[in-house]
Amino acid sequence: MMRTFTTRDGSIWMPSYLTSIDSKTCIGCCRCFKVCSRDVMHLHGDEDDDFDGKLNRMIMVVDDAGRCIGCGACGRVCPKNCQTHVAADELAT
Ligand code: SF4
Ligand code: SF4
Repeated sequence: MMRTFTTRDGSIWMPSYLTSIDSKTCIGCCRCFKVCSRDVMHLHGDEDDDFDGKLNRMIMVVDDAGRCIGCGACGRVCPKNCQTHVAADELAT
């Protein structure tokens, strides 16, 4: 079923939901975390394969994608373009 989303004044608005973050390119800067009001992601320690697992780094991970409202703020502030967003009408419901 095709769903229609609108802004407060009734204008058509297409949410673009965060679905994943590329762990290889994320630098763990937390910019996305700071602008998100929905508890969709958190910072996570990760072993970096490039250093034989000896060096840990922090990356952002999506842990509750279902809470995303598709505002797109996190994607706008990401300096590494490592997030994937999917328009609401392209997601299977
Ligand atoms: S699109 Fe908006 S609600 Fe969804 S994760 Fe990004 S900042 Fe949070
Ligand atoms: S803004 Fe981008 S690079 Fe920074 S933590 Fe979020 S996903 Fe990673």
